[in-house]
Amino acid sequence: MALHALSVDLEEHFQVSNFERLIDRKDWDGQPSRVGDSARRLLDLFDESGSRATFFVLGWVAERQPALVREIAARGHEIACHGYGHEIVYEIGPERFREDLRRGRCAIEDAVGGAVEGYRAPSFSITERSLWALEILAEEGFRFDSSIFPVRHYRYGIPSFTREPVCIDLGAGRSILEFPLTTLELGPITLPVAGGAYLRLMPGWLFRWAFRRASSQGRPSVLYTHPWEHDPGQPRQAVPWWVRLNHYANLGRTEDRLRTLIEDESFVPLGEVLADLDRGDTLASRPLETLLAA
Ligand SMILES: [Zn+2]
Repeated sequence: MALHALSVDLEEHFQVSNFERLIDRKDWDGQPSRVGDSARRLLDLFDESGSRATFFVLGWVAERQPALVREIAARGHEIACHGYGHEIVYEIGPERFREDLRRGRCAIEDAVGGAVEGYRAPSFSITERSLWALEILAEEGFRFDSSIFPVRHYRYGIPSFTREPVCIDLGAGRSILEFPLTTLELGPITLPVAGGAYLRLMPGWLFRWAFRRASSQGRPSVLYTHPWEHDPGQPRQAVPWWVRLNHYANLGRTEDRLRTLIEDESFVPLGEVLADLDRGDTLASRPLETLLAA
């Protein structure tokens, strides 16, 4: 049976790419903070099933709520980095990416008092336009990344990318472990069964079936969620119907959906799943070009 990875992108309800044009970064401090309460509900949920997760923390949040980050770590979870200002990697370019990454990591490490070694890009924004980010992550000493979603989506995705965790050989003696977001392949159809809005909008049985199947095949998968997805009482923004569907649909149902899944299977932090694969010598080391081939 495979161990699966559980992950939380720790950010406020107003820091999502969906609201980027609606709520300016300079106005973030004026918004009501809800991340602490909803994160603690998630922590209790994880305790119930004995699951442990990786929390990809936004540096902006770590700076303002260091005690929350320390509490998450103290309750047995892995702390990793979600950048500082929730900037889309392919929009800001290599220089600003490195700055945002360093600023984010600094804030998180200051809060938790230890090193972080994992990264997830806001909105999975490491795509074919921003593969240089992998080099920068390796240069900055990150051991693993989980930002590549092998699906077709208007904002993210590398549809041809490998579906399995892999060690990406970047040349010049550098490498980084990549844990791509989980998909379910059904003939020509690729379904993103990794969490987020998909978990709220797609049938629950499909997720359970996908994770059970991956388990029986010995394939580790990764599941992601956000604290705001467990907060039906959050203030509503005036957004078009498709954004409303994506951000607000079924928020009251997320907790039950997630509970069913994590009670069914064993979930641990990403760093542990990858270390386990590494020890078992089952992580292929492959040059980046070969991972992109259709
Ligand atoms: Zn995010």
